[in-house]
Amino acid sequence: MSERLFDRVALIGIGLIGSSLARALRRDSPGTTIVACARRAETLATARRLGIADATTEDAAVAAEGADLVVIATPLSAYAEIGQRIGPVLKNGAVLTDVGSVKQAVVRDLGPYVPDGVHFVPGHPVAGTEHSGPEAGFAELFRDRWCILTPLPETPSEAVAAVGRMWECCGMRVVTMSADHHDKVLAMTSHLPHLIAYTIVGTATNLEESLKSEVIEFSASGFRDFTRIAASDPVMWRDIFLNNREAVLEIVQRFTEDLTALQRAIRWGEGEKLQELFTRTRAIRRSIIEAKQA
Ligand code: NAP
Repeated sequence: MSERLFDRVALIGIGLIGSSLARALRRDSPGTTIVACARRAETLATARRLGIADATTEDAAVAAEGADLVVIATPLSAYAEIGQRIGPVLKNGAVLTDVGSVKQAVVRDLGPYVPDGVHFVPGHPVAGTEHSGPEAGFAELFRDRWCILTPLPETPSEAVAAVGRMWECCGMRVVTMSADHHDKVLAMTSHLPHLIAYTIVGTATNLEESLKSEVIEFSASGFRDFTRIAASDPVMWRDIFLNNREAVLEIVQRFTEDLTALQRAIRWGEGEKLQELFTRTRAIRRSIIEAKQA
């Protein structure tokens, strides 16, 4: 960020995503004052030790007061309480954004607490790892990834542009869409794959002991990739499934139908059907590599 987009930024939540943003701001916008908020003194001490915040507080209202930009980067289940706490202190003209993985629920939970004169730009930097906490973050996390903004009809375009510029400076490609559309797309691209990974790894943990130890021994043959996804933060993913229920259930329904069709093809020895599908899916992988999203 060669320009200083915001003078004072409050980061409510300083884990993987919050601390990665803090690092990027530190690197590219050193004039920005960063105030970090988390519940635990230990988290805040780590943020101070890492030098990614100018001030730290356990009180979201103290962090948000006087901030030009407030970024909520906690698990989704904390949003409503945080909104209630910070709503009264948000300054006129401030921009409120977030990084949550579901967007309709964010509008539902935060919307009622956004006062007139504060510009609400829900957002989702689609970048992450299976690690959590302030030490897991790194400034390059966002490079070449998509950031989806889901502004409300009344959100001024300048506020959307300012948030978009910040993420672009982090190396992201920014796109806007409706919260509803975001939730449908992410149900397919992120939430369903996680659900499948949790299921597969869950099935393995239910196996009898002898088989289980061999699954771990021979994990490189496919299982290992699922264990990485299934190692993602349990609280974050609980919240995602509870808050994107409809879109996830719809896509799980379709997935189940497709799985049943594959089951039939295997049962009836329909090799052509299997090969045709696997050829199509291989092409998808190639297009992801070409889009530099691999
Ligand atoms: P994380 O590493 O677990 O960090 C969460 C942070 O929020 C911690 O600093 C935690 O500190 C703090 N926190 C939790 N409850 C709080 C509360 N009530 N008030 C203030 N601070 C609180 O999580 P993350 O991976 O950064 O995820 C944060 C958000 O980003 C989630 O909404 C998630 O959906 C979204 N997201 C995640 C990814 C990913 O891959 N991880 C990708 C894109 C978007 P304390 O425990 O000390 O309070």
